[in-house]
Amino acid sequence: MTAEMNLTHAECAERARTISLRSQRVELDLSGAPDPAQRTFRAVSTVTFGATTDETWIDIVADSVIAATLNGTPLDVSTYDGARLVIAGLEAENELRVEADCVYSVTGEGLHRFTDPEDDNTYLYTHFEPTDSRRLYPVFEQPDLKAEFTFVVTAPQDWEILSGQPEVGRTTADGCATVTFAPTPPLSSYITAVAAGPYHRVESTWSVERADGSRQEIPLTVLCRRTMVPHFDADDVLTVTHQGLDFFDRHFGFPYPWGKYDQIFVPEYNIGAMENPGLVTFTEQYLHRGTSTRAQRQGRASTVMHEMAHMWFGDLVTMRWWDGLWLKESFADLMGYHVTSAATQYADGWVRFAADRKQFAYRQDQLPSTHPIVAVIDDVEAAQQNFDGITYAKGAAALKQLMAYVGQEPFFAGSRDYFARHAFGNTEVGDLMECLERASGRDLETWSQAWLETAGISELTPVPEVGADGHLTRLVIEQDARDPLRDDAPVERPHRLVLGLYRLKDEVLTRTRTIELDVTGARTEVPQAVGEAVDLILVNDDDLTYAKVRFDKVSLRHALEHTTTISEPLSRAIVWSSLWNATRDAVLPVGDYVRGALAQLSSETHPALAATVLTTLTTAIEDYTPVADRDAARSDLVRTATTSLAAAESGSDLQIVWARALVRATASCRDGVAAVRGLLDGTAVPEGLRVDQELRWAALAALTAQDDTTEEELAAELAQDATMGGRTAHVRASSGRPGADAKARVWEAMTTDTSLTNDRLRAMVAGFTEPASSHDRQGYAEAYLDSLTSWWSGRTIVMATVLARGLFPRGDLASGQGPEEHEVLVRVEQWLRDHESAPAALRRIVIEEADGLLRALRAQAAA
Ligand SMILES: [Zn+2]
Repeated sequence: MTAEMNLTHAECAERARTISLRSQRVELDLSGAPDPAQRTFRAVSTVTFGATTDETWIDIVADSVIAATLNGTPLDVSTYDGARLVIAGLEAENELRVEADCVYSVTGEGLHRFTDPEDDNTYLYTHFEPTDSRRLYPVFEQPDLKAEFTFVVTAPQDWEILSGQPEVGRTTADGCATVTFAPTPPLSSYITAVAAGPYHRVESTWSVERADGSRQEIPLTVLCRRTMVPHFDADDVLTVTHQGLDFFDRHFGFPYPWGKYDQIFVPEYNIGAMENPGLVTFTEQYLHRGTSTRAQRQGRASTVMHEMAHMWFGDLVTMRWWDGLWLKESFADLMGYHVTSAATQYADGWVRFAADRKQFAYRQDQLPSTHPIVAVIDDVEAAQQNFDGITYAKGAAALKQLMAYVGQEPFFAGSRDYFARHAFGNTEVGDLMECLERASGRDLETWSQAWLETAGISELTPVPEVGADGHLTRLVIEQDARDPLRDDAPVERPHRLVLGLYRLKDEVLTRTRTIELDVTGARTEVPQAVGEAVDLILVNDDDLTYAKVRFDKVSLRHALEHTTTISEPLSRAIVWSSLWNATRDAVLPVGDYVRGALAQLSSETHPALAATVLTTLTTAIEDYTPVADRDAARSDLVRTATTSLAAAESGSDLQIVWARALVRATASCRDGVAAVRGLLDGTAVPEGLRVDQELRWAALAALTAQDDTTEEELAAELAQDATMGGRTAHVRASSGRPGADAKARVWEAMTTDTSLTNDRLRAMVAGFTEPASSHDRQGYAEAYLDSLTSWWSGRTIVMATVLARGLFPRGDLASGQGPEEHEVLVRVEQWLRDHESAPAALRRIVIEEADGLLRALRAQAAA
């Protein structure tokens, strides 16, 4: 990025004050897309707007701006700087026409072009959030300048040609169709969308007859590229879509406003999905090439609901500026889990939320870069870095707590009021709170201040006092709540929560009592618990609030030994999550966590929970365990995975989870090599396990990390799976080969080959950083730090972020060394001092990654 790529809040606010956008016509000529030699396409924007200023600028990131006219008079385009074109001589009402040659993207930003190596078909799709619509067409790139957009797209006539609105006109010439789409309702540019290519489509219709006699019918389409059709689970996606529209129609009280609902699964996508109204884009990774577990399908359902919630929250009502990103993301994230749990077959969605999604928030909230949910975002580079665990998961957890606090019905009533008042407009946080206050009749000022405007996590610890008869004589919940951004000043954070009391009987932990209560200050007495006999006290059972939950000594011992005997998966998720938080904080020695998890995991019956705990175990062993103990822990993990795989029920999800775990563990432990070989060559495959292509590639990646494959073997596998997925998996596997020369080759490719696609670069980074070859990477810390600023200026923000995050050096503590003395951290400190004026977004990445390393070293020191 050049400096001009950034856009500040101040200048955009000024532009919004002086410009009134009316409508925008966007004409795109994509007829040359199938020819890889054509780098660019022609884009023409015609914008009508009122102005109270003489001069402004329009955003366009293009190869070149060909011509521009303002009110019929040609403008000087020689001042175009690669990101902005100055528009001078404005009148009260204006028509601006700008013509540019824009570039097909390989990084997933702007208009991405993908050619399928299997059948040579070309596919296009767009992704803009936060500020890449300017890579497709000249535009006022900010969410509060909404326009009625009319898209006109020329592309090969046998292609699907799609935008957010339905097609209303079509002409054909020279093998190409020019399709005109209906004008959009007022819309922010970051959620406009175009897709084109020979996509495969499956159709359905959703309809409703409401109690008031009104009717609505919405055409539904799901699409994917042709070679993915065998893996296209269209029925499941459509079923979930119907269930979601039923739910939102009933609860949001505002008819679906975008006419049609297309959902398209696209390759080489940088994120999970994007809520473009009428044309939602999803990563193709949601179409599972291998056997999918129920948890994977549940994850997809949750994303479908998340994006659907955005049709109202975000698309219909949009944040004024990126500091309100959380407004739409927290709400959509909450709805993703709520509606999946309430309206689909995936009713245990909250287990995933507690075990998995909230870890995203806990992790982020303890970084030096933590921020309140309502964040200050000065520019779009900062916005780009703020699609984080606080904006999504902590915000969702806070709203879940708010739902518990005001009640579910008032929460939805407030939302209905919000949609009705602000439809097609832009809002700030206060607008939502006002609606929720009106609906609930409660003053939310204090709640909002404590939850939305402070940073950090409350720590809740039960302090039991037990009499001679073993029964509680007193129970207090201590809250340690501070704001790390205000010198750790205490915060009064109110929690509505459920306390679970458990007894151990016949080696089984059984919940004998639940107490719902409000925890507000530093100490909350729980008189209801007096007289109870308890073996485990679980604060925040049912997961209503957002907090780090600690255990008293007795509870901790039982948690480490008997968690899997608790019947409710949601309660187990909270125990596992608490144990992991304590390990991350070096409060619980990592060895205790690893031993406790390994001893219990083979009896964890919830596949998604088992998979989550296995992921934490990998981090615990590879990053937090002292290097002297690591090989033993790796062997233990391989042994547990081997026996658990053998014991898993034939054809079950647990069998898949354990097979994947065994393969993954083998990448850093030779003990598993023979078993993984047996899976691969078919000589030792447990009955009912399908060793599909994905598992084969994972196995080959693990064996390559152990230097137990040849290049010929990998090439032979590629020959039998010459798909895009196969190619990426081949790159992933071969990049993991140990040896200084192999690492040097991968480093060279990652850092110099700018033609690499986003997916290929990510595959190389994953292979390069295999734990098994850490000794071959020792020398790269310096090269990493020396390269950071040139990556940032020379690559797009997505690609620079992949490199800056993915290649951050890791390290282990030498004996007697203090964590802060580690040479990587010392060098990073020096880099930060030497680069005080480096872009804030880049510094944020380096600071966060360094903190991750420091946390790992502290855990090693505390082991
Ligand atoms: Zn979202």
